[in-house]
Amino acid sequence: MQRTYVNEIINKKEVFLQGWIYDIRELAKAKFILLRDNTGIIQCVIKNEAKGFEEKLTLESVISINGKVKQAKLTSSELTIKDYEIEVLNLELINKAETLPIQVYEKDKNIITDLSIRLDNRSLDLRKKRINAIFKIQHEISSSFREFFKNNNFIEIQTPSIISSASEGGTELFEVKYFEKKAYLAQSPQLYKQLCAISLEKVFTITPVWRAEKHNTIRHLNESRQMDIEVAFADDFEVMKYLEECVKFIVKNVINNCRNELEALNLKLKIPNYKYLSYEEAIKLCKLKFGDDFSPEDEKKLCSMFPDTIVFTHSWPSSIKPFYIFPKTMNKNEKLSKGFDALYGGIEISSGGQRVHIPEILIKQLKDKNLNPKNFESYVNSFRYGAPYHSGWSIGLERFTMTLLKLDNIREACLFPRDRDRLTP
Ligand code: ATP
Ligand code: MN
Repeated sequence: MQRTYVNEIINKKEVFLQGWIYDIRELAKAKFILLRDNTGIIQCVIKNEAKGFEEKLTLESVISINGKVKQAKLTSSELTIKDYEIEVLNLELINKAETLPIQVYEKDKNIITDLSIRLDNRSLDLRKKRINAIFKIQHEISSSFREFFKNNNFIEIQTPSIISSASEGGTELFEVKYFEKKAYLAQSPQLYKQLCAISLEKVFTITPVWRAEKHNTIRHLNESRQMDIEVAFADDFEVMKYLEECVKFIVKNVINNCRNELEALNLKLKIPNYKYLSYEEAIKLCKLKFGDDFSPEDEKKLCSMFPDTIVFTHSWPSSIKPFYIFPKTMNKNEKLSKGFDALYGGIEISSGGQRVHIPEILIKQLKDKNLNPKNFESYVNSFRYGAPYHSGWSIGLERFTMTLLKLDNIREACLFPRDRDRLTP
């Protein structure tokens, strides 16, 4: 018999279901189990005349059953099908689960399992409704990002993960042995996406990046995923507009396509508004001085002034933006740049800007940052053969998921987080 999913049982008489045991209640003459598959949870009744009744069932054991679909009036809030139950004719134990290290069915809301114990048992943790919901929504986020830029005639590119020198300076790199040479894990696809944009015009990528920052924070991972775009013949404000439209599209899709997941997370989302502030306006609001960067508290403060809004801060000083960000004007004493950040829900979700497409300016700005132009020779040379001006940005996938879903730790938004203390599972 062909497998039926839990959400497909209505209008069927007899079904073959496969899944996990979410809950068990054993009486003398019958057992009641809640069977969970990818699509929902349904109650099954196993009377003592059913084949397989004698099996010793445990929570999260994998089973298959043949049974009759019967009308019922059930009330448990865990059930996704409440008007029907399955009368089991035949039960087969496919794989018996041992005693669980963490609860999957969180019946007792007072038992709170430490995040680190949950992450030690991540595969099991993913079976929980709430956790499952986070990653279904993350899938909606990344696939909506892809869809948005595909619809806008961008092409998806794949950039290298092993690189010969730092893309940006600033963050620390993981060193890898590359035959006789030293190489590094990429901290960003930045330089490569630029090399693509000056020839392919409009590109995007979703790619892992590695940063060997030693500190453990609730907003940083040592391995994370970035959703990046780079656009030729576009300035900083044109790509901020893309960010606006793209985030609106993503949030709209999450609202429309992830109703059950949002309910499981007890969330109501709104399509965000947008606010543009120059760096100088923003530091006034935070009572900072020119040249200061925004602390996490400042980012929170700025966002609290504009609820449900993505706050762009633009025209940052070059001194606190990377070497590849274009100056605001060509004046010799220009201190400002075409770099920007986007803040959402109290936290930075994206940085971007117009890039330098002129080799002489690139070399000057590399030197200004105490970086050696020799290490960037092939990158700089690529701009000698007809490079259009171009701009782009990068949204951290886990960072965005965290802030959209109001999670209190970025590790909640990463399947298998890599941090200072964690390399398994
Ligand atoms: P922050 O100031 O928040 O540490 P950053 O300015 O160093 O971030 P960028 O180089 O601008 O980071 O990276 C682009 C985006 O990638 C960030 O806006 C953020 O969403 C995300 N991101 C950056 N670093 C991390 C990290 N260590 N872990 C997870 N996401 C990150
Ligand atoms: Mn940044």
